[in-house]
Parts: sequence; C-alpha cells; structure tokens
Amino acid sequence: MTERLYFLDSMLFSCDATVISCAPCEKGFLVELDRTVFFPNKGGQPCDTGVIGDAAVSSCDEQNDRLLHLCNHPLEPGTPVKVQIDADRRFDIMQQHTGEHLLSWCAWKLFDATNVGFHCALDYATLDLDKPLSHDQVLQMECLANREAAKNAAVTAKEFETEDALAASGIVLRKHAEGLIAPIRVVSIEGSDSCTCCAPHVKRTGEIGQLKVIGELPYKGGVRLTFLCGMRALLHAQHIQDAIDAIALSFSTGRDNAVSAVEKQTSELSETKKVLRQAYAALDESIAKELAKKAEIIRGVSVLVEALDHVDMKRLRALALKTASKKSFCALFSTIDDTIYYVLSSNGIQHDMGELSKAVNLALGGKGGGRGSLAQGSSVKKNDFNETLDQLRHYFYQII
Ligand SMILES: [Zn+2]
Repeated sequence: MTERLYFLDSMLFSCDATVISCAPCEKGFLVELDRTVFFPNKGGQPCDTGVIGDAAVSSCDEQNDRLLHLCNHPLEPGTPVKVQIDADRRFDIMQQHTGEHLLSWCAWKLFDATNVGFHCALDYATLDLDKPLSHDQVLQMECLANREAAKNAAVTAKEFETEDALAASGIVLRKHAEGLIAPIRVVSIEGSDSCTCCAPHVKRTGEIGQLKVIGELPYKGGVRLTFLCGMRALLHAQHIQDAIDAIALSFSTGRDNAVSAVEKQTSELSETKKVLRQAYAALDESIAKELAKKAEIIRGVSVLVEALDHVDMKRLRALALKTASKKSFCALFSTIDDTIYYVLSSNGIQHDMGELSKAVNLALGGKGGGRGSLAQGSSVKKNDFNETLDQLRHYFYQII
C-alpha cells in the first residue's frame, strides 16, 4: 500500500519514491508508488497535479486502497523517482478547505447550522448549510471566521484507532462523517473547530488569508454559500474594485458615489420611459386614425397593408389592434435599421394568421408565426422591399 505522506506533513510538496506498478489506460498510464505526496480527487476537492520523474501527472485517484497517478508516459516498476506536486495549487486548495472548516464552525457556533456539502473547484468553493441564513447572518459568520483566522491558531490532525478512543478523548466534534473506517482522523483548529476529515490543511489559520463569501443561494431548504479564501479573495476584490471604478468613471464621479449615481440614473430612466410610453400612446392614436383611412374594403372586409418606419414590434401590435373593426385584416410592416418587422392581425374573419405568415416569410425571406387572429415575424431588409410589399398587398386583396 502507498504511504501517504500528506498525512504526515501537508506542506511536503516533494519526495523520493519507487514505482510499484504501471498500467496503460484510456488516458495514459496509471502509476502506483511506494510513497507519495499526491492527494487524490476526494472529499469534494480536486487532486494534486505535478510530476513523477519526467512524467506529467494530470490526475490522481483512489481505487479501493490504491492511489493511482495518471501519467502521460509509462514508468518502469522498480525505478526510483522524484515526486513533485504543484505547490501553489495544493496550497490554494488547502486555504479553501481549511477556510471551509472555519466558516462551517462559525455557522454552527452562531446559528446551529450544519455543513451538509462542500465542493472546491479551481476558482471557487461552495459550502452547503442545512438551514437558511439571512444576508446579515452570513456577514456575521464571515466576520467571525476572519477574526478566528487572524488568531493564527494551529491546525492539527490526530488519528484514533477506535470510536471508543475518540469518545474517550473528550473532543467535541462539529461533524462526524458516517461510515468511517478506523483509524478515524480528526482535524482540530486550536480553540475552535474539530471534525473528522481526510484532506490536507494549512498548518495555521493565518495561512488561510481572508475569507470572503461572494454568493448566497437557497439550496435544499438551506443555503449554498460560494466563498473565496486567500489570493482568490484578493483577486476578486481587485476585480470588483476595478469594475466599480469603471462604473464611477462613466458617471464622472468617485467610487463612493457610484451606487447612488446608478440609482439616480435608473430612476431617471424609469421616468423617461414612462413619459415616452405616454407620448407614443398619443402619437399612435393619431397614426392609427390615419392608417384606418387607408384601409380598402374588400368583399366586406376592411383590409389594411401598410409599411411604417422605426416602430417596434410592441407598438406595431398595438397599432394593428387599434385599427381593427368588426371585420378586418391588417398587415403592418416596420423598418428599423436593416430589419423589417411585421404583424398580421384580424378580426371577424376565418383566415388563420399563422397560415398567412408563411406567405409573408416566404416573400420576405424571414421567419415568424402565430395562430388565430395574430402572427408576427421579422426579416433582413432587402432592396426590393417596396415591390414585395406591393405583391403581398395584391396577394392579400385576392385571398381575403
Ligand atoms: Zn478538512
């Protein structure tokens, strides 16, 4: 069985070892060593990557009791090799993982919330709690976790041969994972958290750096918190600061006034939209009256086929409805930049507008549809649009 050196020293990033076995697999070669510093994909976090001799190791997995390193080329069994993991990657993951212990302890201590899930990716980590927390509670939890981290308390691991030995130790566990096979490994933070865990951790809480919760989402009756520790938290803060500064610059104001500047403009925009809606409503009443005068009575049906400029789809539909009479058909087109929008609307006649829209799509080379008394669509504007409109008008006059 491979000796797992990460249990002895989490900051040991290299070692000498001997290749025990090597077998080809779909993605490369699975290499087993007599000892290793590689931590596998386990416990919701990604494995270490690195090198064994001159072979690159892209993954490491546990199969039964074996640790298998996925290498890009074979290594001869019996060969002595130098083993080296990506130290930056390992340290970053240990920061997130140990941060998760502290955040979980704070949630438990402050709100009696239990950690029921953890996932660590290479750019974020999530922690699931079994009860919902308000934003203020999350902030309290975050503050306490940072205060605890600043104490630079020792993080230690201890193994117990039996459950009885663990019980006799007097350690109060925040969490005891189920189905563990002895020895039971307990990771403790001096003065706060203790729980069962199999992963490597930083040695003192100061090494976690800053802990920052950046997302809160309801999840399975509780909450899923997305958080960042250490350099991840710093890079996130830099990114957010740059974004706010860019917003502030666009308003010609300072960072501290950016939010109020956005709120003020949002309010002004909302008022402007309201005034614009009222102005368009008055304008469209007038346009509808003029359009109604252009309708032709074809076999007892009022038929209107007209093209407008810069009227969006919503206004086009409203205009079509405003021009409706007891028995009517209306085909309105509008050009905005290089796009033609159309609406087909009817009242008191048998034709299905969805069927008629197929003819319009064919004529314009566009797309759209509908059913019953309403259909709509759009196309790219072509140079011969006026001729196409005349053809469509003629077609509608024939079939209505
Ligand atoms: Zn842990």
